[in-house]
Amino acid sequence: MNIIMFGPPGAGKGTQSEHIQTQYNIKMLSTGDMLRAEVASESELGLKLKSILDSGKLVSDEVIIELIANCISEPGCQKGFILDGFPRTVAQAEALDDMLQHMARKIDHVFSLEVDQNALLERIKKRAEETGGARSDDNEDVLKNRLQVYQEQTAPILPYYEAKGVLHKVDGMQPIEEVTSQIDGYLKAKAA
Ligand code: AMP
Repeated sequence: MNIIMFGPPGAGKGTQSEHIQTQYNIKMLSTGDMLRAEVASESELGLKLKSILDSGKLVSDEVIIELIANCISEPGCQKGFILDGFPRTVAQAEALDDMLQHMARKIDHVFSLEVDQNALLERIKKRAEETGGARSDDNEDVLKNRLQVYQEQTAPILPYYEAKGVLHKVDGMQPIEEVTSQIDGYLKAKAA
């Protein structure tokens, strides 16, 4: 089962992806986490990535597509994967489709977590407090850029998956457990 978790920053993609990973034993792939690990390693690439992540802009499609291509072909992803933070552009979505076609696989579900814009700032501030500011992009200024990038470059992907009949819009303003239970409902219905 191959899943995409979709939504603006702070929508709860990571939390819900972790749940699916545990519940269904399929691998969660967070491009944000991978990029932050690269930055933390202080490699040459990591140093270049840091300024992009700090600005809230997107890393180039080329770098990200290669990263994901390597991950999904690994044995750990045989049973399936949950993509958290990918694809973020139409070019990434098309590249993903190409990769999957070559592997005779497909995306089964796309969950779009819908959250009020005002709630996102509160959530991001809370996350910054709880993690002791672990993410340098979790602040009001950068969030504005991240939301703009989301609206301009990422949201246009949704109709692509809607047309494929795999898109489920989920009210991300509900308590976490409610969101989880709704997602579970879709996954179980498909598995049945
Ligand atoms: P996230 O943790 O998903 O919010 O990602 C944090 C940052 O990593 C983003 O603001 C981008 O700079 C970068 N990033 C993560 N995923 C992607 C992607 N699929 N394409 C381009 N940049 C990405």
